Amino acid sequence: MIHNKGQGFATRAIHHAYDAQEHQGALNPPMHLSSTFTFENAEHGEALFAGKCEGHFYSRVSNPTLSILEQRIACLEGAEEGLAVASGIAAITSTLWTLLSAGDEIIVDKTLYGCTYAFLHQGLAKFGVTVTHIDLSNTDNLLPAISNKTKVIYYETPANPTMALVDIKLVSEIAKNAGILTVVDNTYASPFITQPIALGADIVVHSATKYLGGHGDLIAGLICAKAELIQSIRIEGVKDMTGACMSPFTAMLIMRGLKTLELRMKQHCESAMNIAKYLENNTQVKNVYYPGLSSFSQHHLATKQMQLFGGMIAFEVHGGMLAGKRLIDKLSLIQCAVSLGDAESLIQHPASMTHSTYSPEQRIHHGISDDLIRLSVGLESCDDIIDDLQQALNNSSIKTVA
Ligand SMILES: *Cc1c(COP(=O)(O)O)cnc(C)c1O
Repeated sequence: MIHNKGQGFATRAIHHAYDAQEHQGALNPPMHLSSTFTFENAEHGEALFAGKCEGHFYSRVSNPTLSILEQRIACLEGAEEGLAVASGIAAITSTLWTLLSAGDEIIVDKTLYGCTYAFLHQGLAKFGVTVTHIDLSNTDNLLPAISNKTKVIYYETPANPTMALVDIKLVSEIAKNAGILTVVDNTYASPFITQPIALGADIVVHSATKYLGGHGDLIAGLICAKAELIQSIRIEGVKDMTGACMSPFTAMLIMRGLKTLELRMKQHCESAMNIAKYLENNTQVKNVYYPGLSSFSQHHLATKQMQLFGGMIAFEVHGGMLAGKRLIDKLSLIQCAVSLGDAESLIQHPASMTHSTYSPEQRIHHGISDDLIRLSVGLESCDDIIDDLQQALNNSSIKTVA
């Protein structure tokens, strides 16, 4: 079952790295709720600690249940190895604290998820790492920003919340030539839609809280990269620095979520496309940002590096932030909440919620408009989601004097 890379995405998401016959026939992987693992004898313990033989000794480092999930996500991302951690932010902090030292520079995209932005400017800058933001949606900006201290390039594509895309192949080429590692936050796309490592990226990080878990019942993170990089992030980043390991129970829930990832993503994407078109044709809506729309400024890049266009939409209504908040308050099926990728459609206002870690001035500088609304299209019947948007738009419209 381990050597099945030729199989389809859904098959690998359901079966990879698990053989029921090795586990008394149990269809689902057993959950190893054990913090520690006994050694055969003192010599075996010594060999495990020295990395001279393979095996588990403490669940902050590795655990048999997590190990199945790690192999599975690596297989889906086309990576050598995977690493399961406690949250998306744990994936980001464990990775960057491993790769960077005081005096190094990191180049990051203009717009990033709010807590990632806070970590860079507080968690990293405080320890003497220089953080440089550039607009990576225009790859011409990259080369001039690179110095001999640049160690890492970090971005999201699509970016949370603006939906701006980064050309993964082009950025990876430039980075490779300069000997710099690239880290891609693939949360918005999921591996069903984009596999950054196949396009040349070195490391993929995920908030598995979102599409991978898919049911809004857990917080988790995953990291994928070459074996050597994963080993150093596992030992330095997770075991010794953040200590942010994943619970085996969470790993079980994610593996349950992965079984339907392809099915769910197809539905998220189909509904999001319909809803984006509906919003684009509504006179109360000023702008719609969805990679699948031909009006989207980076639509061509989207068709090159995204298999489908995702379940996330950003939009602005006429009347600005106040009208947007009024719209949110008038919705009844669509829930007002942060997070994304759940079965339930979720809507929120980035400037006052997920991206309130930026100051108002910073938000302007980083392209996060106060008017922007972020919609995570759920798995409800698409007509019902559109009906809810329609009634809310009807009931929240600003009656302007003609
Ligand atoms: C939610 C999110 C994170 C953080 O993940 P947690 O699981 O909440 O820690 C990181 N990046 C992106 C793009 C996200 O949407």
